[in-house]
Amino acid sequence: MRALTDYDVESLEIELGAWGFKPTHARNLLQSFYAAPGGSEIEQVLGRNLGLALQAKLRESVCARQSKVDHRHESTDGTIKLLIGLNRGGAVETVLMPWYHPGRAAGCVSSQIGCAMGCDFCASTRRGLERDLEAGEIVEQFLHLRQCAAEKGRRLTSLVFMGMGEPMHNLDNVIAAIRRIAGPGLGMLGWKHITVSTVGIVPGIERLMDADLNVHLAISLHAPDDATRQKIVPTGKRWKVADIMAAGRRFEAKTGRIPTIEYTLLAGVNDSEEQAVLLADLLEGFRAHVNLIPYNSIGPGLSGAVYRKPEEARMNRFLEILRARRVVAHFRRTRGDDVNAACGQLREMTQVSILHQT
Ligand code: SAH
Repeated sequence: MRALTDYDVESLEIELGAWGFKPTHARNLLQSFYAAPGGSEIEQVLGRNLGLALQAKLRESVCARQSKVDHRHESTDGTIKLLIGLNRGGAVETVLMPWYHPGRAAGCVSSQIGCAMGCDFCASTRRGLERDLEAGEIVEQFLHLRQCAAEKGRRLTSLVFMGMGEPMHNLDNVIAAIRRIAGPGLGMLGWKHITVSTVGIVPGIERLMDADLNVHLAISLHAPDDATRQKIVPTGKRWKVADIMAAGRRFEAKTGRIPTIEYTLLAGVNDSEEQAVLLADLLEGFRAHVNLIPYNSIGPGLSGAVYRKPEEARMNRFLEILRARRVVAHFRRTRGDDVNAACGQLREMTQVSILHQT
């Protein structure tokens, strides 16, 4: 059975027409579904001025949602991790972060179950890619987060694609989901409150740019030179630093949105003063912001290497060098320490990512 989150206005119009009903009901149906923070129940959606035959057809053919929150873990700092079970199989992790503003929250969603990218310091990729998420399954993460925020008296005001998966490898579904999440009359989050994060898939950056969604872009660079990058990010062999940066510049020129460069600091791998200087060189004349992410330990990587977070002083030095070169850079540490359990990584990423929207 399909869920209302599987449809956009056009596809529901087509479906209604195929069933012999007036397509014009589609927009109202979806609007009333998206009106409740977590999405309305099917009876609420049908409680409008619809004929009995259409009501019966909808009851028999569609459900409201295709996922549910299986587990919820709240840390002392307010971070809430949701494990969402999917009717089509598997589960994804989604994280809600309280924002700097008392009434707001930021969310972090997944685009795939597992990941094929193989970044050596990332837990999501350890068991490879299980499957792509469908657009509706991504939309439902947003709805669960919005519901959870509402229960806490907060408004979900931003969303980052920094959970599991590589959004550029499931871009059709990611774009379709963004259109529903941000779209007028639907999720209405606002395009500029959404950030898509990529390991640096150049054609994906181009396609996102051409989709004219007006969303933000984050690029997980992690090293200023190809040799270092290829040791920790396998896709670095395919997409070179210079090509990725050129794509980032084109993204900025076309969309006017300043990209964020994500840089996970790994002791003795990418945290030297020379690398900070090289990163600053790379950003010369480019207004990208740098988010420094202290490595969050996940045990041995796929290669067997064990990474460590650099000492405080070393991370501060890296930041100072960037700032001395007028690069806009921040890093942020986790607050609270009782949620490390499986979600430390997502949590840390979300905290970092909300910074560049402040
Ligand atoms: N595939 C996308 C989005 C998911 S990862 C991407 O690569 O951008 C989101 C961010 O979290 C990336 O910058 C990733 O490198 C970072 N990250 C992954 N594992 C981490 C860890 N153990 N510690 C700190 N940051 C990590």
